[in-house]
Amino acid sequence: MSRIKTVFMDMDDVLTAFSQKVAELLNIEKCFDDDPLFMEYEWIKRLGVRDRVEAFCDEEFWKSLDWTLYGKELLSMVEDIFDKENIYIVTKPMENPGSEAGKIQWIIKHIPHYRFRTFIGGIPKEFLAAPGRLLVDDKEENCERFFKAGGEVILVPHQWNMLRDRKDSVIDYVKLEIRRLLGE
Ligand SMILES: [Mg+2]
Repeated sequence: MSRIKTVFMDMDDVLTAFSQKVAELLNIEKCFDDDPLFMEYEWIKRLGVRDRVEAFCDEEFWKSLDWTLYGKELLSMVEDIFDKENIYIVTKPMENPGSEAGKIQWIIKHIPHYRFRTFIGGIPKEFLAAPGRLLVDDKEENCERFFKAGGEVILVPHQWNMLRDRKDSVIDYVKLEIRRLLGE
């Protein structure tokens, strides 16, 4: 019997290609991949464009986001291992009040079975942490806090976290980490 009973999947930059779309709208697509500036999770803040980004991250922006390159396969792999009824989507809204509505519309459009399995909230994700609960997230800070609060974590490799060397093999990495957690 698995010691993981519940999985919380992050949404932005794990399922949805949030940063890629923001970069496109800021016309910085070309340098996005190898510019050291984007090695920090808070790259939007560092660029000093937070207000501009907040303004265009309205309902339409969120509901029309693309999947990440690996998002569909990642969710499908997690569903195969843990079953859909044990998986929830957990995501934080931005300040733009259209973000909640747009995010839920994305869910309805792409993964409607998560319509009532999605939590969009401003509270820290570690409030949901407990033994047997796994967070899959690309933000180091979220993973650190969730783990300290007693949960299990898998950091999704991305250029802005410590696993940037694995960013081209997300599925393989996460699969290995799940096997490790399950003691397989
Ligand atoms: Mg994220």
